[in-house]
Amino acid sequence: MKQQAHSPLDTSAIRRDFPILSREVNGHPLVYLDNAATTQKPRQVIDALVHYYEHSNSNIHRGIHTLAVEATEQYEAVRAKVARHIGAADERQIVFTRNTTEAINLVARAWGDANLREGDEVVLTEMEHHSNIVPWQLLARRNGVRLRFATITDDGYLEMASVRELVGPRTRLVSVVHASNVLGTINPVTEVAEVAHAAGALLLVDAAQSAPHMPIDVANLGADFLAFSAHKMLGPTGVGVLWARDGLLESMDPFLGGGDMISVVKEEGSTWADVPYKFEAGTPNIADVIAFAAALDYLAEIGMDRVREHEKTITAYAMDALHRIDGLTIHGPADVDDRGGAVSFALDGIHPHDVSTILDGYGVAIRAGHHCAQLLMRRLGVPATNRASFYIYNEEREVDALIDALKQTIKVFAE
Ligand code: PMP
Repeated sequence: MKQQAHSPLDTSAIRRDFPILSREVNGHPLVYLDNAATTQKPRQVIDALVHYYEHSNSNIHRGIHTLAVEATEQYEAVRAKVARHIGAADERQIVFTRNTTEAINLVARAWGDANLREGDEVVLTEMEHHSNIVPWQLLARRNGVRLRFATITDDGYLEMASVRELVGPRTRLVSVVHASNVLGTINPVTEVAEVAHAAGALLLVDAAQSAPHMPIDVANLGADFLAFSAHKMLGPTGVGVLWARDGLLESMDPFLGGGDMISVVKEEGSTWADVPYKFEAGTPNIADVIAFAAALDYLAEIGMDRVREHEKTITAYAMDALHRIDGLTIHGPADVDDRGGAVSFALDGIHPHDVSTILDGYGVAIRAGHHCAQLLMRRLGVPATNRASFYIYNEEREVDALIDALKQTIKVFAE
C-alpha cells in the first residue's frame, strides 16, 4: 500500500492494526471516511475488551475478591491516562459518562440547575452540535435561563465580535465546540475563555472533535469543563469523559443517584462519595472504559502532534482535489491550520443523500445529512451536507477513490 508523501505516519503499518479496514463493501475495498461519526477500532482495543471479559470480568469498587480487585485497578488506571491525554492535573477531575452528550447533560443538570436562575444567560454558537444545544434548552425550560447564539462568518469562522457582544454581566456560562463536526473550524477557545472569565462566566468546551485529533491542554485552553467521547478516538462506544476544573465537581450535587455514588445512606438522607465517584452512579461501563485505555495508549504511542500533522496533510490533499471538481462547494475554512479533518461539501443540484448512496456503491463511506447541527444548516442555507472526515489510517489513495466516485456521481446525474 502506498504511503502518503508528506504524512509523518506509517499508515500501512497502522492499517494492519485495524481488521475492519481490510473488508470489502459492495465489491470494493472499504474507504472509511466517516470518522467524525465514529472511528474504527484497532486490534489492541478489541483484544483489551476480549481479555477483560475472559480474565478479569467482575463488578468494581465493591468486591474484595481477586477479580473485583483486578477489575477495579484496571478501571481506575484509565483515569490517569485520560488526564494525561488532556493535560489535566488530577485524575479525580475525570468523570466517566456514556458519551459527550451525557457529559454536557451532567453539567446542565448538576451545575446548571443549582447555579442558574431566570434571567441568567448561556452563550452558545451557531455551529454547535445538538448535544450542546438541547441540554441548555431543557435547562431554559426548567429555570428560565436565556440562550444566546454567537454568529459565524460566511466562511465558517466564529465571530469573536459576536461573542464579545453577547457575553455580559448576565452570562453564567459560555459553551462552545472546539472543532466543528461540520465545518471543521477550530475555534479560538483560549480567547473565548478570556472573554467568558472576564465576565465571571464559566467555559464548557465540547471537545468531541478535538480531543481525538490534536494535542489538548485544558489549562492552556482555559476551560472549566471539557467533554468528549471515546468512540471517536479509537475507543469503544459507551464511554464519554467529563473533565472539570479543580473544585468544581466538589461543589456540584450528583446528577444520578444510586449505588457506588454514596458515602452513607440513612432513611432520613444520604451523603455522597468523593469525586469523581459521586457522579458515577450504578455499575459503570467497566469493560469499555478498560478497553479505552488501549486506545489512549495507541494514540500516545503515535503522538498527538503527529496525529494532527497527518490530518492536516490529508485534509489539504482532499480539499485541493475537491476544489478541482466543477460544481463542488466546500463549507468552512480553507486554511488547514484553522480546521480539523471534517470536510463538508455540496455538489450543485445533487442531494447529499444521493451522493452518499452512490458513493457507497463504490465502497466509499461518507456522511450525508444535517450532522446534528440544524442551526448551522439553517445558517448555511442548506438542508444537509456531504461530509468526508479523516483519521490516522486514511491515505491519499482513499481520497483519490472518493474523488473518482464523486466524478461518477456527477456523470450519473448529468445523464
Ligand atoms: N459534539 C460534537 C462536535 C460531535 O461531533 C458529537 C458527535 N457527532 C457530539 C458532540 C456528540 O457525541 P456523542 O454522540 O458521542 O455523545
